[in-house]
Amino acid sequence: MAYSYEAPVSQTLFDRASLVTPGGVNSPVRAFRAVGGTPRFMVSGTGPYLTDADGREYVDLVCSWGPMILGHAHPEVIAAVQEAVARGTSFGTPGEGEVALAEEIVARIEPVEQVRLVSSGTEATMSAIRLARGFTGRAKVVKFAGCYHGHVDALLAAAGSGVATFGLPDTPGVTGAQAGDTIVLPYNDLEAVRAVFAAQPGEIACVITEASPGNMGVVPPLDGFNAGLKEICEADGALYISDEVMTGFRTSKAGWYGIDGVRPDLMTFGKVMGGGFPAAAFGGRADVMAHLAPVGPVYQAGTLSGNPVATAAGLAQLRLLDDAAYTKVDAVSAQLRALVGEAFTKEGVAHTVSAASNMFSVFFTEEPVRGYEDAKKQEAFRFTAFFHSMLEQGVYLPPSAFESWFVSTAHDARAVERIAAALPAAARAASEATA
Ligand code: PLP
Repeated sequence: MAYSYEAPVSQTLFDRASLVTPGGVNSPVRAFRAVGGTPRFMVSGTGPYLTDADGREYVDLVCSWGPMILGHAHPEVIAAVQEAVARGTSFGTPGEGEVALAEEIVARIEPVEQVRLVSSGTEATMSAIRLARGFTGRAKVVKFAGCYHGHVDALLAAAGSGVATFGLPDTPGVTGAQAGDTIVLPYNDLEAVRAVFAAQPGEIACVITEASPGNMGVVPPLDGFNAGLKEICEADGALYISDEVMTGFRTSKAGWYGIDGVRPDLMTFGKVMGGGFPAAAFGGRADVMAHLAPVGPVYQAGTLSGNPVATAAGLAQLRLLDDAAYTKVDAVSAQLRALVGEAFTKEGVAHTVSAASNMFSVFFTEEPVRGYEDAKKQEAFRFTAFFHSMLEQGVYLPPSAFESWFVSTAHDARAVERIAAALPAAARAASEATA
C-alpha cells in the first residue's frame, strides 16, 4: 500500500533505530508492522495531542496504551514529578511516596488488603502467578485465549496484544517446561473452565483473566462470567486473579472491580497508576500476600520497585481521578463511539463498536465477538485503510485492529471535532479497502 504523505524525520530516526534495535522499536506494537508504513517518532505531548518529529500534530487515541488518562503533561502531574526528581531519583530504601501510593490503592479497591509495588504490568502478573503457586502448592494456571498479561513466559500461550496483532504462534524461547502448566481456554466459556477443573481437581493454582479484556480488541465479559470464575476457583481452592493492568483506575475509580464487584483473591495493576512512569502493583488478600518475602517464603524483589519519581507521578494522577474525571472520560468515549459508528454506518461498513466502560474498539464484523476466535474473523484489512486515513488527517490510533482505543479527560470539544472531521474519509477508505 502506498501512502500519499511522508514523515521524513521519523523515517530517518526509524532507519537509525532499526540498525541498533530489533525492528527499530522497544515494544513490538509500536511498530507499524500490522498496518504498514513508518512509525511516528513522537517528540512531545500536551493534553490530547502528540507532536511527531516532523512537526505534525495528532489527536492521540492511544494515550500511551492507557496510562495517560489525564492527557499528556498534565501540569499537576508534571509539578509532582519535578518536585520529586529534585529530591533525588532512587534511594534503594523505603520512602513515604510508596506508602502513600499503596494506601491510595488499598483505599480505592476494597479487595486489595495489601499491595506490593513493581515496575511493569509484566512483573505484576508474573509475581502474582508465582505467589498463587507458592500459596496453593499447585502448578497449573488457567488463562484465556486472546488475553494478554505481559510477556511472562507461562502466559504467552495464545496471548493477545502484539502476539495477536502479529498472529504469532506460541513464542519460540518459551520452553515446554515453562508453558506446560498453562491451560488455555476460550474466553467467556464457563463450561470449558468447569470441565478442566472437573478433570484435574486440586491441581490448578489459579485462573488469571483480564478483568475486561482489551488486548484482542475490547471484548467485555458476558454477564456472570467473572462471578462464575470466582465461584469455580473458590470451590476448588484455586485463586482467582483479576488482571486490571489495563482496566485498573481507568474503567472506574475502582477499575473493573468497581463495575462488576466480583472479589478477586489477587489483582494486578499498572498503566494509569504510574502516571506515565514505570510503576505497577499486585495485591489482594492479606493472608495470601503474607506468603511474600520478607514475611513469607515466596521471593519477589526489584531495585527500582516503588521508585520515588514514579510513585509521585502515580499518586498525583490518582488523586486527580475523582468522580468528575471519570464522568468526563466516559462522556467523551460515548461521544466518540457514536461518531465512529455513524461514520461506518453511513459508508455501509459492517462493524461493531465494542465498549467496556470508556475503553472501546471497532470490530469489522457484525457477528457477536465473545472471544479471540470471533475477533480474528473480522475484516482486519479494513482497519489498515481506516488507520492510515486517520493518521494522514492527524488522528493517532493504535496501529492494530486488536487493541483498545483510549481517551482522556483532556479530550475536549476541539479534539473531538478534529476526530469527527477525519472520520468520513477514513470510513470511506475502510469501505473501499480490499483484502
Ligand atoms: N496485563 C494487561 C491486561 C495488559 O494490557 C498489559 C500491557 O498491555 C500487561 C499486563 C503488561 O504490562 P506491561 O506492558 O507494563 O508489562
